[in-house]
Amino acid sequence: MRHRIILATIIALLNLTINSSYAMVPGYAMIVECPHCRGTKERLTLESGNTLVGHQWWDLKQDYPMLPHVSFVQKCLHCQKYYILKDAKQTEGNDYSFELGKLDYVEMRRAWDQMKDTLQGESRIQLLLEYVWAYNDAFQRQEYHNEPLSPREETVLRVCPRTRPIDFDIDKAVKEIKQEFIDTQIEFETVIRELVASFPVKNRLIHAEFLREAGFFDEAMAIVEQEGEQQEEPYKTLEEILHDKCTRKDSSVGIISYQ
Ligand SMILES: [Zn+2]
Repeated sequence: MRHRIILATIIALLNLTINSSYAMVPGYAMIVECPHCRGTKERLTLESGNTLVGHQWWDLKQDYPMLPHVSFVQKCLHCQKYYILKDAKQTEGNDYSFELGKLDYVEMRRAWDQMKDTLQGESRIQLLLEYVWAYNDAFQRQEYHNEPLSPREETVLRVCPRTRPIDFDIDKAVKEIKQEFIDTQIEFETVIRELVASFPVKNRLIHAEFLREAGFFDEAMAIVEQEGEQQEEPYKTLEEILHDKCTRKDSSVGIISYQ
């Protein structure tokens, strides 16, 4: 699994794509069994796909509409618990499904809370990475912020529901919302620090980028200085991004794009 994560990193960084002239063709859905309650759900499989449309982000997330990512962690529709997909029993069905099991940030926090004390090894590192992706989806991914209700607003509304009793105390509610947000940030810092400590990379600028995205601009710049001037892509571009965005205290997540 470690090799798979390293390979995924290398693929993302070198922009090596699995270009293909084939359109996306789904295969029969896999029937996934929840390890907690044995309830089942279907998930997408692909006979073929391609990366002709889509892009990769500097946090290593890949968005390819014709090669969609089935979530590494799944939520059971029956008992509402979470589990790692590769650890679940899966059998081929005889129908099609486009279910990816994608979790939003609120669900990812619950998944992390359920598994953080027991999950080990490469699965733990992958869950940390997916947590960071979910956080960035909600708050920081530039392209996702053009919709009428921003993902950030949507998440805050879900974290802190506005449906209150008629006689609710607005000051108390605001205090709760602030506390919830503080808790979110504290938890995110813990996750990002563990990810940086355990995620294998060829070049530590990737760690610097994770730290910048989390708002630790000085620490990110310290790594940039340790690594020295970069001559090769994508690190040359990443170094420029780190210099520029750290100076402006900008934590937004952009798309990998370099010549
Ligand atoms: Zn279940």
